[in-house]
Amino acid sequence: MSVIILDDEVINQIAAGEVIERPASVVKELVENSLDAGATRISIDLEQGGRRLIRVTDDGCGMTREDAVLALQRHATSKLTCADDLFAIRTLGFRGEALPSIAAVSHLKIVTRPHDATEATEIVVRASEVTDLHTAGAPPGTEVTVGRLFFNTPARLKFLRSEASELSHITELVTRFSFSHPQVSLRLTHGEREVVHRPAADDLLSSVVALYGRDAAERLIPVELRLPLLRVSGFVSRPDFTRSSRSHQALFVNRRQVRSRTLTHAVEEPYRSALAGGRFPVAVVMVDVDPALVDVNVHPAKAEVRFVRDWEVHEAVRRAVREALEGTALAGAALGAGAAPPATFGGTGRGPTSAAPAQPTLDFPAGAAPAPPAQTAVGLVLAPLGQVRATYIIAENADGLMIVDQHRAHERVLFERLETDSAGAQPASQGLVMPLTVHLGRREAELLERNLETFAAVGMTIEPFGGDAFVVRAMPALMAKADPEVLLRDLLEELAGRPSGQRLDLPREAILAAAACHAAIKAGTRLAPQEMVELLDGLARSTRPFTCPHGQPIIMTITNFELDRRFQR
Ligand code: ADP
Ligand code: MG
Repeated sequence: MSVIILDDEVINQIAAGEVIERPASVVKELVENSLDAGATRISIDLEQGGRRLIRVTDDGCGMTREDAVLALQRHATSKLTCADDLFAIRTLGFRGEALPSIAAVSHLKIVTRPHDATEATEIVVRASEVTDLHTAGAPPGTEVTVGRLFFNTPARLKFLRSEASELSHITELVTRFSFSHPQVSLRLTHGEREVVHRPAADDLLSSVVALYGRDAAERLIPVELRLPLLRVSGFVSRPDFTRSSRSHQALFVNRRQVRSRTLTHAVEEPYRSALAGGRFPVAVVMVDVDPALVDVNVHPAKAEVRFVRDWEVHEAVRRAVREALEGTALAGAALGAGAAPPATFGGTGRGPTSAAPAQPTLDFPAGAAPAPPAQTAVGLVLAPLGQVRATYIIAENADGLMIVDQHRAHERVLFERLETDSAGAQPASQGLVMPLTVHLGRREAELLERNLETFAAVGMTIEPFGGDAFVVRAMPALMAKADPEVLLRDLLEELAGRPSGQRLDLPREAILAAAACHAAIKAGTRLAPQEMVELLDGLARSTRPFTCPHGQPIIMTITNFELDRRFQR
């Protein structure tokens, strides 16, 4: 094998591969150039998801003929002169790589005219070769047309997704540009269709409203924190407004869209206890920081950044989001912020909530008047109106209509009760008058054997009795009325089916959650009005009323705003 120096064509294609991965990468680079050129209007036109054509037109500063020719050379940039400048970058581009990279893998045409020039320059390039250069008539600004992307790199072409998928990447990208640069008017068309049209606005919120919809905006809370070297701003959603993916999270550092584990973690952390697994808050968060504290030069497509003081940035963002959430009553409840009163579900001083597995009922103090739906310390008020399919409780509060899953709500209440009861050295436990012997299958016996201590910690005393036999001696006080054998078998079955069951060592919480689930009223159970009042009251007093112990949502809200909108009031 002999060593050779690659020719320019190959070198250009390799370099292009780093920067230009798909049509969205071209759009990103071109729009960044337009923004860097001070454009106030940018339009992006696509054909076939960008594969056939991408055209970006701006009213920015334009280029002279000399600059336009030079800009096609690798490492030609007007944004950087020495290495130190890398830590003083306020522009989106800085490497002088985008135009030559795009030129290497497409049919490229640039028409550009500075504002003080009378005519424009048109340059046509095919696979890095300038094939035409002449004077043209065009308005001030720049129009870059990229045709037949990857025409000479069939491997890249093969990796492109469907037209719809490439288009959705581009739409998401353009949406985010409108967050970072709301003062710029942005328009995206695909063939004949207008996909995004964002007139210029002065503020982020109107961009968010335009793109995520009015009801999204209704449930967003402003985030604002100023420190000497750093500012955090933007919007995050209340914990009852979430998405199943991070698609509605947009993070920016010095107005640059970034992916950042540090920032994602900092934004989501304050929601941790409030959100179900697999649910993500909506967030549009801007971090503006002294450029000296960010390394923007760590990723080929500039999609990631590194903070010089990573932990401090994390703390600042986390604090900003947390403080924003604490300002809202609903979030206060969900975050367990402030001193939530202990659960008083089922009335005070009464025996434990009944939990017979076959016919679970709620054990309420007889004859007690239903408590008025008073504002609780955490601010969640839920006045029940009725039941749907004996499964969901319909309730009302100042925010609008709430639909509550009765089983999960009760599960949450019982779970916290069990948690409190089993927190002390002596868990609230009730001995069985007749200890009960059960015989289990091998897998269940193994699961139980390894977790006897955890069961004991929640008030369930069980002893091995040789082979597959076990003796149950005591039950958690809250579940004293349940059939011990049914409870134990149900618990083991449920635990065995969980991912944590495979590891055999179960956290105490898993057992509490399973016990709460077992004892909670089931879907399909009719509830008396007073029972609903008590259940919702208990829920309001719980520390995390929005998420059941298994991580599923408990409450769905239809805001007053949404109601009015649907009825076109
Ligand atoms: P970079 O953005 O990293 O400088 P590019 O290859 O993207 O590198 O662009 C090279 C140069 O071309 C830029 O520095 C800029 O001077 C000029 N340029 C590119 N696009 C435009 C545009 N739309 N308007 C004005 N100048 C542009
Ligand atoms: Mg650039």
